[in-house]
Amino acid sequence: MNTEQPKKELSAIKGTKDILPQEARLWQIAEAAAKEIFELYGYRELRAPVIEPTELFEKGTGASSDIVTKEMYTFTDKGGRSVTLRPEYTPSVVRAIIEHRLDLQPQPLRFYYIGPMFRYDKPQKGRYRQFHQIDIEVFGEKDPAVDAEIVEMAHRLLRQLGVENVTTMVNSVGCKKCRPAYGAELRKAAAAVKDRLCPDCQRKAELNPLRIFDCKIETCREVASNFPKITDFLCAECQEHFQEFLGYLDFYGIPYRVDPTLVRGLDYYTKTAFEIVAEHLGAQNAICGGGRYDDMVREFGGPDLCGIGFAMGLERLLSVAKIEPPKKSFVYFAYLGEEAKKQSIATARYLRSEGIECLVEFKDRGMKAHFSRANKIGADWVLIIGEDELAKGKFQLKDMIDSKQYEGTAEELAKIILLKDKKGIKSREE
Ligand code: ATP
Ligand code: MG
Repeated sequence: MNTEQPKKELSAIKGTKDILPQEARLWQIAEAAAKEIFELYGYRELRAPVIEPTELFEKGTGASSDIVTKEMYTFTDKGGRSVTLRPEYTPSVVRAIIEHRLDLQPQPLRFYYIGPMFRYDKPQKGRYRQFHQIDIEVFGEKDPAVDAEIVEMAHRLLRQLGVENVTTMVNSVGCKKCRPAYGAELRKAAAAVKDRLCPDCQRKAELNPLRIFDCKIETCREVASNFPKITDFLCAECQEHFQEFLGYLDFYGIPYRVDPTLVRGLDYYTKTAFEIVAEHLGAQNAICGGGRYDDMVREFGGPDLCGIGFAMGLERLLSVAKIEPPKKSFVYFAYLGEEAKKQSIATARYLRSEGIECLVEFKDRGMKAHFSRANKIGADWVLIIGEDELAKGKFQLKDMIDSKQYEGTAEELAKIILLKDKKGIKSREE
């Protein structure tokens, strides 16, 4: 046996982490809830690769965005191609739509996906380099009712997972028609206070002043709070879309706050932008961010297909979710001898086909050792197979919670387990 301690450098990469079984159970519950809810709204899963050509994000996410300039995991593969571990999902879906001509299908198209994203960000609480998103996208639906529907869908998921005290921030970031005039005003305003901005925002002041609103530095936020507001510059079409969106939120009874400085970090948004933030998460408080991107598919060389979607961070979601994983019962096999071991294997195989979790361990143990092992691992049931039981073809089943013991064939015992479990493990404990 190798008793050497693993070397220290053998640990997970900074900003990434293992999700161990106890925690993974919560992830499974959150993921299952998301899938179930999205399917109820007509969404279907679309799975795209983790790696993509770098230009997909340069084009889609925007060359001046923080993600592309600072946060991308980009490397050259052995064939000399520049590839990137996806920092977000939307560009991949847009690529898939164009590549597979999904736009020829009846619209709107509704997709969802759950999986890892990668950003070379500064690791801290709520911020990882490999993190996970629940992502949904709708293509081909212009009506602001769908903007509100996805917000309502996000809220349904949060409610189901016991997330409380969230605030929904909404804004409209305008469109190609109205944003340039606003951009020009913003550039002027930013230039006038340039020396009070961080070096990063000074660069943004010329390149893409809208991005200054996204800066996390307090002084920049303060300076930006006096900038002109996009909501004063919206064209009639964007204005109407925004008002109707808010009207549908009211209709759903979803409280919101209009925040004219909410811009989102990516280049492609048009009209609706929203964020759902949790009160107790501190600086990394955004659980969910989303918005509309009506020009993106066309700019990618695809058809004229409008889009809207959101991404929810699973780590942040789980840090505020209240999930009570249901306790699952299982049967531990206490057997003596080779014949009984084989009988245990066969019986476990049968019980599993009835949907009962079974654990047969192969370490040679006496009855006492079996029971102390069963206790240690929290078995709800112990199935005893010794010489007597083998001869009779009937086994002993001990309920470890109320200490009752039953005798019967595998079929009879399966019925008892299923019946008592149905009544609930908790109530048996009382
Ligand atoms: P932030 O402003 O916190 O950096 P963002 O605007 O970069 O967030 P989005 O691109 O909108 O985030 O991603 C949607 C969601 O994904 C966020 O609301 C958040 O919950 C989650 N998220 C984003 N980046 C990270 C990260 N590095 N680690 C963990 N979760 C993240
Ligand atoms: Mg970010």
